[in-house]
Amino acid sequence: MDCIFCKISKKEIPANVVFENEDIIAFKDINPVAPVHVLVIPKKHIESVVDVKDSDEALMGKMIIAAKKIAEQMKISESGYKLLVRVGKNGGQEIGHIHMHLLGGARLYENIRPA
Ligand code: AMP
Ligand code: ZN
Repeated sequence: MDCIFCKISKKEIPANVVFENEDIIAFKDINPVAPVHVLVIPKKHIESVVDVKDSDEALMGKMIIAAKKIAEQMKISESGYKLLVRVGKNGGQEIGHIHMHLLGGARLYENIRPA
């Protein structure tokens, strides 16, 4: 499948990986809009939240747990951060593999949008 994030998760193309476990991989956004800008993805290809199944419930929880651990690793838990998931065209989703943006390291106002 021609999916850039699947290729990153299979290490077929390089990325700056900051976290990985059996189900999840997280890497630095190539075009950061905050001092900390990490993308947290499931290794399983799911196009968007629209395609999430009931059986993906645990996997979706694992994305949040990973984000929380990465935030601790990056020392932004106390200062706070933003978790953002775009869905489809009107949500501004550009890559068709579900991903959660972890944004922090500076005050992020509501009108600041990654990419
Ligand atoms: P979205 O607009 O929510 O679909 O976000 C896609 C994000 O993926 C953008 O913030 C891009 O900068 C980022 N991105 C695209 N290609 C890569 C890549 N090869 N490595 C890391 N981040 C990427
Ligand atoms: Zn994919």
